[in-house]
Amino acid sequence: MMQEELNGIKIKVTPPGPEAKKIIDMNDRYLARSTQSLPVVGKIGRGVYVEDVDGNVYLDFSSGISVTNLGHVDPYVTAKVEDQLHKMWHFPGTDFYTEMQVLAAKSLIEVTPGKFEKRVFFTNSGTESVEAAIKVAKSYTGRGMFIGFIGAFHGRTQGSLSFTASKPIHHRGFFPSMPGVEHVPYPNPYRNPFGIDGYENPDELVNRVIDYIETYLLKTYVPPEDVAGILAEPVQGEGGYIVPPMNFFRELRKLADSYNIPLMMDEVQSGFGRTGKFFASEHFGVEPDVITLAKAIASGIPMGAVVMRKEMNFKESGLHSNTFGGNLIASAACVATIEEMKKLNVVENSAKQGAYLRKRLEELQSKYDAIGDVRGLGLMQAIDFVKDRRTKEPNSKLRNAVIDNAFRLGLILLSTGSSAIRIIPPLIITQDQIDEGIEVLDKAIKQSL
Ligand code: PMP
Repeated sequence: MMQEELNGIKIKVTPPGPEAKKIIDMNDRYLARSTQSLPVVGKIGRGVYVEDVDGNVYLDFSSGISVTNLGHVDPYVTAKVEDQLHKMWHFPGTDFYTEMQVLAAKSLIEVTPGKFEKRVFFTNSGTESVEAAIKVAKSYTGRGMFIGFIGAFHGRTQGSLSFTASKPIHHRGFFPSMPGVEHVPYPNPYRNPFGIDGYENPDELVNRVIDYIETYLLKTYVPPEDVAGILAEPVQGEGGYIVPPMNFFRELRKLADSYNIPLMMDEVQSGFGRTGKFFASEHFGVEPDVITLAKAIASGIPMGAVVMRKEMNFKESGLHSNTFGGNLIASAACVATIEEMKKLNVVENSAKQGAYLRKRLEELQSKYDAIGDVRGLGLMQAIDFVKDRRTKEPNSKLRNAVIDNAFRLGLILLSTGSSAIRIIPPLIITQDQIDEGIEVLDKAIKQSL
């Protein structure tokens, strides 16, 4: 499959093929156990399609977990990375300087929310960005406690894992992780411990959560002057694509400000146009003091970053650092990604096609009682499968069957939360391609019931 053939590509599948079987067998012999969920062996990615080792062509509604937001192998980013490949690959930012790293930082400062002076710290992944953000907050405030949210995912290394609270398997055998993180309920409008219908009564849900933090945490046993930061995802990702009520973060910000606690937002999954704005926090009208980034930041070249208020910058050199952060290839990809996002207007397309996708998903919901909830922002959407719409009891078995059947019909999907499927196509997707995917999803649901 060549770049010129991009137009007119359609799903073509008869999986799993013989080559795929061979590689999956080798994978199991050589690689440590990880989290593979589908037997797809990718070979070539083009735009919104993926070709596997047997020549099957899939429509990719997973975007490499919200990484390939410009589609696979964007030609402009490819050219810029190739250009950099011939100049220099690595010149450690721990000790030296490069122009590309400065340009990447400047690009990030320009597109992230907050009309104040900022500084950027580069990492190589989402979890490392969270680790760095923890140190930024501790170092700036001189405090050691944090507040995180139930249902959150922030990574799997010891510091970020201590905030992650979306599945027991993430913690099995690993407790205790970093001490000092108190978890509070997230204002999940669909399922929350307060039994409030957050779609009908968003204010009641928000008040309950804010009151919980203030009354039961800060006034009961966690001294606010010991809290270094509140860390939240603007839309919970791995926890099920949970969109809180629109005034939640403004209220949280007020609470944080009243106690002088920094607000830290993890935009690793929700950032870079995914939700129909450049960053999801913009939907909620807040400017976080610290933002963690990774995934789509460099279109698939490993990179992460922490963008912080200038005054939160490390007070002296040596407090935190790493060898590869701001690597030249990654920095070139980051600069090119942001330029290409602007040129192709993908943020606008995410809002526009996201609205269309949402409409198509709601049509599926009216057709199938098993879909209890449709939720999301822009092209960050999910459908949640239930045994009974009234009780909202999760139906993970049906969800898994739908993903499996969709795969056999040529559509790549990922699960999220206990019973949802996330639908996160590349932001360059067209309406016709959404229709192509919805048709498969519809068939897959029918086959799975
Ligand atoms: N934060 C969020 C919100 C994420 O969704 C993820 C990954 N799914 C991470 C952090 C961790 O990123 P990484 O896998 O690059 O460590």
